[in-house]
Amino acid sequence: MNDPHMPEVQGNLAYTCIGCSRRYDIYDFVYTCPECRSLLKIENTHFHKLKETPAEKWKEIFDSRRSTNKPELSGVFRFHELILPIVPLNDIIYLGEGQTPVVRANEEMSSWVGAPFLVKNDGLNPSASFKDRGMASAISFLNHVIRARNLDHVLGICASTGDTSAAAALYLSYLPKSKVQAVVLLPQGRVTPQQLSQPLGSGAIVIEMPGVFDDCMRVVEELAQDYHVFLLNSKNPVRILGQKSYAYEIAQQLDWDTSDLVVVVPIGNAGNITAVMEGFIDLHELGIIPVLPTILGVQSHHADPIARWRASGTYTPLRVTPSVAQAAMIGDPVSFPKVRKLVQEHFDDRFHVVSVTETEIMEGMLRANRNGHVVCTQGGESVAGLKKALDEGILPASKRFIVDSTSHQLKFAVFQQMYFEDGFAPEYGVCTKSSLKNKPVPLEASASTIARYLGLQKKART
Ligand SMILES: *Cc1c(COP(=O)(O)O)cnc(C)c1O
Ligand SMILES: [Zn+2]
Repeated sequence: MNDPHMPEVQGNLAYTCIGCSRRYDIYDFVYTCPECRSLLKIENTHFHKLKETPAEKWKEIFDSRRSTNKPELSGVFRFHELILPIVPLNDIIYLGEGQTPVVRANEEMSSWVGAPFLVKNDGLNPSASFKDRGMASAISFLNHVIRARNLDHVLGICASTGDTSAAAALYLSYLPKSKVQAVVLLPQGRVTPQQLSQPLGSGAIVIEMPGVFDDCMRVVEELAQDYHVFLLNSKNPVRILGQKSYAYEIAQQLDWDTSDLVVVVPIGNAGNITAVMEGFIDLHELGIIPVLPTILGVQSHHADPIARWRASGTYTPLRVTPSVAQAAMIGDPVSFPKVRKLVQEHFDDRFHVVSVTETEIMEGMLRANRNGHVVCTQGGESVAGLKKALDEGILPASKRFIVDSTSHQLKFAVFQQMYFEDGFAPEYGVCTKSSLKNKPVPLEASASTIARYLGLQKKART
């Protein structure tokens, strides 16, 4: 008997060009339209069949899978039908990604920001960033294709601001060594020591190049176009499929009620914000959520091409200057054409972008972490962006807010340390506040010395 709570292989996926609408076989490794060079998206040409299942039934199915002990359905593939329905359960790679917690900001933090809000902490993924969501779908797909087409010696390759390479190296390391090798391209000196340690530890070939992320991306695009490699950047739309789960989980964690909701997302290469928008569109089309939420994108003023586009109507790639939100330090976001199309066709005035200063980002991160969170600099950027949008009246405080912390505090501890030690190079333009600094206190190993330092009162002897 068919158990509707267990997904089965179904649907029909194809790459669809967002420029000329031509379709390509999902089993071909293509990343841009061979005809017009536009980006590709993955479409389920049988999506209409999913509409035959009533919304209430979908909610029941997804809710019932919350209690499953099956690893394959414990992560992003809880939403198998909406992600990669052509991949059978036994090809799914699950390393513990997804189903990340939603944490309520305390009163002190909420009043500083200007409204109550929630933080969905994607730092609690296996490689400590949201990139694991898309990597779970990309590597499950690759695993499926390797088996179905009996492929050998696949090079999985990506350019990265740090976290994509950590995730790619981790997920590829799970597949047989005889079948795959991970190769990551990093801008030298532009990833943190923690991020660099991750692909090294996972056994990837780590190539360091001079320049910034945009330079690495150009090289990897050329490699993907001219050589046999499997591209693991979010330009590969298989990554976007898994990253949509962030939106599905938010909806589920809010009991499928998205009314008055604002989702705050930092923007780098714009893959994540694309996926979040696409995820909410899926749910809306199936009637699972009543309305699309408002999306608030946030960028550093040192790397804010999308904020400038939203403000002026013109998109111009720019040369970035150093940002503590280093994972989002991108001057020409690859997925910008997708963002523009999604905004034009679906989100319209439900889409805002604010630009924040480096000082504001650091303060957002440090204050959040002094109030029970473990957000990274990009999470701090989200917090700062929400505060700015409220301060400037772009959004009313009466809305409901959920903020994306895209990775873990510890990956970006070097920036916290620079703040504490006034160690920022002048290009960052960070002004520090002594009230947000902290440092270890060296004292001798003596209770009385420590008690004196802390001003403790001695207990009366009885
Ligand atoms: C990649 C990344 C971003 C930016 O996401 P895009 O999909 O590139 O827009 C933000 N924060 C962290 C921690 C990241 O790793
Ligand atoms: Zn095309």
